[in-house]
Amino acid sequence: MSILPDSLTDELQFLVEEYELINTSILDQMTKFSDYCSKINRSIIKSCTQCGCVKIDANKNIFEDLHQFALDKKSTHCFGDLCPDCKELIEKNIGSALYYLASICNSLDLNLYDILIKEIQKVDLLRKYNIE
Ligand SMILES: [Zn+2]
Repeated sequence: MSILPDSLTDELQFLVEEYELINTSILDQMTKFSDYCSKINRSIIKSCTQCGCVKIDANKNIFEDLHQFALDKKSTHCFGDLCPDCKELIEKNIGSALYYLASICNSLDLNLYDILIKEIQKVDLLRKYNIE
């Protein structure tokens, strides 16, 4: 892939393609992506169990009226605000996961921007179906 980037995702894919010297096998890319997804989860859990800047208080969601549920504010079960250290670590792990997602897209000749556009269209369509 040697294209001039015209979006942030294209730029990420371009840079990953140009400068990735190790983990060029899709097998390595898949496992690194999976590793960073686990690290994202772990860093969120540590923000709760070690730092304490956020609290997770989960319970069963009760959907008596799906239409009303879509209109109500949905609970994330997450309370509080990330401290700067936890925010930085979570962002770093998300960034690394995006790096390996871009490398997987490159290996399969997929365009991350096109995938994002399709996902946005899908979510928008679902939102209209649920709300209207
Ligand atoms: Zn924290």
